[in-house]
Amino acid sequence: MRGQTKPELDLAGALRALGAPVTQQRLAIYGELRRAKDHPSAEAVHRRLGRRFPSLSLATVYKTLQAFSRLGLAALVNAPRAEARYDAITRRHHHLICEACGRIADVFDSRLDALRPPKLPPGFKLSGHSVHFRGLCPACARRGSFVARQRTYIKEER
Ligand SMILES: [Zn+2]
Ligand SMILES: [Zn+2]
Repeated sequence: MRGQTKPELDLAGALRALGAPVTQQRLAIYGELRRAKDHPSAEAVHRRLGRRFPSLSLATVYKTLQAFSRLGLAALVNAPRAEARYDAITRRHHHLICEACGRIADVFDSRLDALRPPKLPPGFKLSGHSVHFRGLCPACARRGSFVARQRTYIKEER
């Protein structure tokens, strides 16, 4: 038992087992996170639920996602230079992060799972790891090379 796989579909059961309140809003927020494949921020989840839950506040979404992450029902993805992003996949995996548009894609690779730091300071208790590969997604890379070409063009013209 690795302790990383949590029940992903029966949220109500999981919340009850953890002694956390089960509310329609919590179920909806979790459902939205499960459906999303883009590691959404609290803002994005709030926006997507806005039509079905007009009274749902952004603060509630923030607090709920933070609670999910504390309870191990969601994973917090620490994207550099960005707001907190959340993931319904809590088993070990890694990420490809676009530094231009913030898109985050999942990477599953047992070699990365097996990574260990060469040396830990005495007393450090390792709880896990996630590798972030940073760069440009295909769309941004194309746009980037287009901008670079334009710049060269302008320079040559002068
Ligand atoms: Zn991008
Ligand atoms: Zn992920």
